[in-house]
Amino acid sequence: MDTVSNARSEALRNLPAVERILQEIDRGSRGNALARPLVTSIVREAIALRRERILSGGGQTESFEEILDSISSELVNLERSRLRGVINGTGVLLHTNLGRSPLGRAALDSVVEVAGGYSNLEFDLSEGERGKRGAFLERCLALSCGGEAATVVNNCAAALILILRHLASPNHPEVLISRGELIEIGGGFRIPEIMESSGASLHEVGTTNRTKISDYEKAIGPETGMLLKVHRSNFYQEGFVEEPKLEELVALGREREMPVVLDLGSGALVNTETVADIPHEMTIVEALKAGVDLVCISGDKLLGGPQAGIIAGKREYVNALKRNPLFRALRCDKMVFAALEESAVAYLETPENPSVVLLDLLRENLDTLRSRAEVIVSEFDESAVRIGEGKSRCGGGTMPKAEIPSIAIELKPKGLGPAEAARRLRTGAIAVVPYIAGDVLKIDLRTVLPTQDKDLGKALAELLSGV
Ligand SMILES: *Cc1c(COP(=O)(O)O)cnc(C)c1O
Repeated sequence: MDTVSNARSEALRNLPAVERILQEIDRGSRGNALARPLVTSIVREAIALRRERILSGGGQTESFEEILDSISSELVNLERSRLRGVINGTGVLLHTNLGRSPLGRAALDSVVEVAGGYSNLEFDLSEGERGKRGAFLERCLALSCGGEAATVVNNCAAALILILRHLASPNHPEVLISRGELIEIGGGFRIPEIMESSGASLHEVGTTNRTKISDYEKAIGPETGMLLKVHRSNFYQEGFVEEPKLEELVALGREREMPVVLDLGSGALVNTETVADIPHEMTIVEALKAGVDLVCISGDKLLGGPQAGIIAGKREYVNALKRNPLFRALRCDKMVFAALEESAVAYLETPENPSVVLLDLLRENLDTLRSRAEVIVSEFDESAVRIGEGKSRCGGGTMPKAEIPSIAIELKPKGLGPAEAARRLRTGAIAVVPYIAGDVLKIDLRTVLPTQDKDLGKALAELLSGV
């Protein structure tokens, strides 16, 4: 054996056995609450990784303690990745990474009742036989949206795929869309890719900044199956721009007997400008009033409900979508029905002022936010914690320009940089996600639910006591 392979086999021999590491972890100080198979799998992977590294000539310089430390921190990270609630201090109301819209009490109670036992999900209590899934919800949504009919699938992306799959049929596979609307929403949602995967063929019209109704008109051919408009929900175009009015597109669709579909995404049901000092966002009611045949929106954006894709519009189309085999594959779980039903009812009961958590957060005025901040900061030294200003945003790919004045708690823990302090807040017993502006660590109070104020105080105390 040459010296290289000698060194290699010695390194391999020196690698600790999985059992030995497990014993050490069991012994206590590094103990954790993870289920045994999870711990074993992490330890096995860690050792296998090191073995591969040695075999490919990478050597092995870590001591037993170092390996154990590295595995322990992997276990902590794994435990931390388990789904749990966090305090959103980012000021981004619909933070996609933080689960978008929070749900209210009524929705949660309904989820607990419906999902914690049996329910009449698809059962007609009057007749004692099979009933229609989601019938009540669909009626409520149709009414709130001002459409003839409505239905629900897993999310807005699914809604769009279903619509494309159905309307861009083999005989008419072509979908006209403006080059200015070939957008990426985020999280891998790119309109051209979605269209391709649904079997539709994309026919781009106009230019990035200017598309005229005549561009659509000229492009319609025997293969064309539908006209699609996609709401630019996460960016703005300014300057030399032009796009046809929704009404013009609808008129063209009518004339050429072609369905017109709007992917509205953010889809508010209320006039956003009445909720906060933010611009008007097109509502579903307006879209349907303009005459589009179908509109689809997300349940967990400005609507403030659970993740869902709501489709509303002409009954003929909605019913046809529900008969498509793909509909079955994209349908929602009973928990979503339970929560969304509560949102839909809230919008019908008090359309002007629906009881929806997201809208409450948007509405919260500065005085209320400031008094909440005063209570929280009163416990701490002024040099480390003070009240400042913030700017909340809608987020989640909605209203990119809108900034809502807010109150932020500013933190300057002694001897701790903002990035490290932010990490400690995120990884504390109560997870808080702050943001850094300039080099100031901030927690925007608008996105902290009032019921979380006490916990936020505790998290700040933990951070400050550790420095
Ligand atoms: C957000 C958005 C989508 C995707 O919605 P999901 O519910 O996240 O699938 C699609 N289209 C537009 C215009 C959007 O804004």
